[in-house]
Amino acid sequence: MDVGTDSSFLDGVYKSFDRAIATMSLPPGLADKMKQCNSVFMVRFAVGFRGRYEVFTGWRAVHSEHRLPVKGGIRYSPYVDQEEVEALATLMSFKCALVDAPFGGAKGGLCIDPSKYDEDALERITRKFTSELAKKGYINPSLNVPAPDMGTGPREMAWIADTYRHLHPEDINAIACVTGKPVTQGGIAGRVEATGRGVQYGLREYFRHPEDVRMANMEGGLGGKRVIMQGLGNVGFHASKFLQQEDDAKIVAVIEYDGAVINENGLNIADLKEHQLSTGSIKEFPGATSVANGMEVLEMDCDILIPAALEGQITSESAPRIKAKLVAEAANGPLTFEAQEYLRQQGIVVIPDFYLNAGGVMVSYFEWIKNLSHIRFGRMEQRIDEMRGTQIVELLEEMTGKKVPEEWASRLKRGAGELDLVRSGLDDTMRKSYQHLREVFHSRDDVVDLRTAAYVVSIEKIALAYIEMGI
Ligand code: GLU
Repeated sequence: MDVGTDSSFLDGVYKSFDRAIATMSLPPGLADKMKQCNSVFMVRFAVGFRGRYEVFTGWRAVHSEHRLPVKGGIRYSPYVDQEEVEALATLMSFKCALVDAPFGGAKGGLCIDPSKYDEDALERITRKFTSELAKKGYINPSLNVPAPDMGTGPREMAWIADTYRHLHPEDINAIACVTGKPVTQGGIAGRVEATGRGVQYGLREYFRHPEDVRMANMEGGLGGKRVIMQGLGNVGFHASKFLQQEDDAKIVAVIEYDGAVINENGLNIADLKEHQLSTGSIKEFPGATSVANGMEVLEMDCDILIPAALEGQITSESAPRIKAKLVAEAANGPLTFEAQEYLRQQGIVVIPDFYLNAGGVMVSYFEWIKNLSHIRFGRMEQRIDEMRGTQIVELLEEMTGKKVPEEWASRLKRGAGELDLVRSGLDDTMRKSYQHLREVFHSRDDVVDLRTAAYVVSIEKIALAYIEMGI
């Protein structure tokens, strides 16, 4: 991503880290230990296609191993490089620490444009990459557990899990070597939409604090707020769909790599996604105005701007034209360090990436636990829950002589299944983590924004882990 003269993604992460460190008093040298990646594995491997060979380059960066396994997705993109993977691995350590997912941080990348390959070829490439990583211990249920990221999804995770299982048939926990698998292959209900759900829960929590809402020159809740969404991929699609359908937010514009669509009365996101899937683009969506230059739409007036695509989307060059009151970072690193500085000075609030997009790794954590325990969440207790609820309804009816209204009766009688439990755990995580970071932000003058607060909270936890266990 061309960020002009701004800091690169990795340098921006380091600058934010240094700023947080400057407000803390850690033992000398400990910050150095926590800043850079512990190791980076680079691999070149060839795959043969009917007498023709192609060489691919991939990476897996491990940032911090204060907790094991290390966790983080694998990205398939023609633009991925080592520095990007390192920046993303660094963010993973802080993300996991912030939301109390007991993992260190890692990230993987494969330099490939997946749209140029058919399913068979992608499967062979993924399996080869997996065995290269597994050979060196960069995939392992107790050491290093990948997940989906940009360009990958449940399909790739199923191939990874299967390849690993073939290499280690004796490992009873082999399936826990990767998360984000299809539910039928050891995945968990709610993982596909987890990052989008987390964005929704994070925004809901932000809007529960009127003091914070006023910081962004707004009042009230999410209902009626005008939202611009950049990216209609897995994260952007689910986040905007949930915000529209369940919180009455108005999605006035959606931006994709090839253009944008605008409708001041709100776009119907489910229909827009169907249109994108059937035509290959969001453009020409009936009832909306199509705009060729999506980047201009990023600068349109709105309440909440949600960048849910790539890093480095808003730079110091474009930041002065941003009119949103609140920027909710659903992608990793969508603002350069310099753009963040500018927006803060203008009173535009930014909810930081490694808090807001932590829903994915959180639900990955639940999946990993499910795999290790070899049982679906709710399997033992769902019927007991249901029975208790039924008894309460019956008792109420007997004591009052009145019928419990049907809607209430069915709500009370329902036992929690896996999806209910996943949502409950994710909601709780997003609430508590935000409360923690806002407390740090509001109580300390030297903590200048929510991002610095998020770094302070995460660094404190990682530092404590290192100090307690002794390096
Ligand atoms: N790729 C996602 C992220 O950046 C998910 C990682 C995971 O589930 O381990 O947070």
